[in-house]
Amino acid sequence: MEEFIARLLDLQDCDRNIDRLRADLKSIPLEIKIHMKDTESHEEKFNLFKSTLDDAKKKQKKLSGDRLDNVTRVADYKSRLISLKSNTEYTAMLKQITHAEKMNDQIDGMILEAMYEEDEATQAMGKAIKDRDRAVKRSSLREESLRKKLSELENRLEADEVKRAAIAAKVDRKQLKLYEKSRSNGHREVVTGIQHGSCGGCLTKIPPQKAGEIKGGKTYTCPLCGSYVVWTSDSSF
Ligand SMILES: [Zn+2]
Repeated sequence: MEEFIARLLDLQDCDRNIDRLRADLKSIPLEIKIHMKDTESHEEKFNLFKSTLDDAKKKQKKLSGDRLDNVTRVADYKSRLISLKSNTEYTAMLKQITHAEKMNDQIDGMILEAMYEEDEATQAMGKAIKDRDRAVKRSSLREESLRKKLSELENRLEADEVKRAAIAAKVDRKQLKLYEKSRSNGHREVVTGIQHGSCGGCLTKIPPQKAGEIKGGKTYTCPLCGSYVVWTSDSSF
């Protein structure tokens, strides 16, 4: 392999690492966001159960108030019975008392129902709290490790960029310019290995004689994609 190719290959390896690091660095904040969203959704669910429970409690309180009013009403009606003069008035009052007492029974039934609702809501809420706490703990642990990874990757990227500058300084300026232009056009394999007798960049078949020369260390430029095709450890005819 010619010296300038070896240097370009070094540079390309370094750039490949840098590309990978940059892609990872980009994906981590997205992953962190997903964990934060997950925590939020658990929080929302918890709030929903909490408001159901609060409603059930409020309902019970109101029903208890209604019952007390009704009991007072019945007592009042009963106390007025003695003072009633006519039979009609007396019968009408008795009717009202019966009606109010029936209402009490109805309210009792509703209170019982509300108590069941509260029990159910309390249980659902207990589960929601457990789920939420578990999710929050899991997410925060994951988030912490992602942030740690993020700073590690940032450090590695910084080190790789220093390394790259040193490698690039050794590459011929004209070659470096061509290489960088090629990469900025999206061509990631400026130097590529010969794969099954073809250019590793664009898979164009290379004449067997040329392939033999490549194996012998000669530089070959792919006429189609412009890559430098070289013999690498995983190359084959
Ligand atoms: Zn090619």
